Amino acid sequence: MLGKRPLEHFKTANGTIAPTQSVDRWDEGKGARRYPFQPWGVYQGGSIVRFASLGSGSAGNATLIAAADTCLLLDCGFTIKETVRRLANLGVSPESLTGIAVTHEHADHAGGVGPLARRFDLPVWATYGTLAMLRDSDLPRITPIHAHRSLQIGDLEVHPFPVPHDAAEPCQFVFACRDARLGVLTDTGSITAHIVSHLRGCRSLILECNHDADMLRAGPYPPAVQARVASPYGHLGNHQAAELLQKLATDELDTLLLAHISGNNNTPEEALRCVSAALGCAPDWPGVLRQESESDWFEV
Ligand SMILES: [Zn+2]
Ligand SMILES: [Zn+2]
Repeated sequence: MLGKRPLEHFKTANGTIAPTQSVDRWDEGKGARRYPFQPWGVYQGGSIVRFASLGSGSAGNATLIAAADTCLLLDCGFTIKETVRRLANLGVSPESLTGIAVTHEHADHAGGVGPLARRFDLPVWATYGTLAMLRDSDLPRITPIHAHRSLQIGDLEVHPFPVPHDAAEPCQFVFACRDARLGVLTDTGSITAHIVSHLRGCRSLILECNHDADMLRAGPYPPAVQARVASPYGHLGNHQAAELLQKLATDELDTLLLAHISGNNNTPEEALRCVSAALGCAPDWPGVLRQESESDWFEV
């Protein structure tokens, strides 16, 4: 049964939750912080992944993914001030973050990683290629990852997979806790069989719908930039996203959020129309992640 499930109750009245000090598996003995979601103890040890977007689009991306005591930030394309403000709106203090995983070095994903990691002494996970190309590489704690090798970060299973995008070694991720799986796919110019195999069976999906092909052609970008966006190493268009959804068995999909929507070459309405036609669902069933504001919390 289709239906997205926002979790308004995860927002606290006054924002931040005080951090706790304890140790978890990936960084034993170094004062790694656990995500203090104790008020909802019913979830402790359960197979629930929670997630929320701080914002999505070409001007900045960041997503929170949490399971039990772990709360990971995926990408940070915002300033520290904006990141802290949006985290507070979602009830999360930056001190309580487990760390930051980075998909690739483009500024809308990595521009805020260095300042945030230094200010709050947060560990960073990224591929060797991404780490090599970061403009701001002065990071306090780095863990290089392999784009074909899964890892465990606290309570989250993290499954990276490579994507075709014009960056050094870009990857996207599936995050899981037992049978709860969230797939995240943005910044890919095409869909590979490997991507499909990773996203199959995800109950929640954050999916790029960057542009409408006609709007891109008629839009304000110069031809070279249009060609870059539409290339197999550029960004995913609405129809490509729709084709992917048709390839995935989506019977189990209960939350779909459209992401990285271009402000120049797409509209949320057009993306929703295209995707809902492919899924055969109501046009207002998928959610849309916005650039200017954070989303609700969702759960897998
Ligand atoms: Zn991007
Ligand atoms: Zn990119």
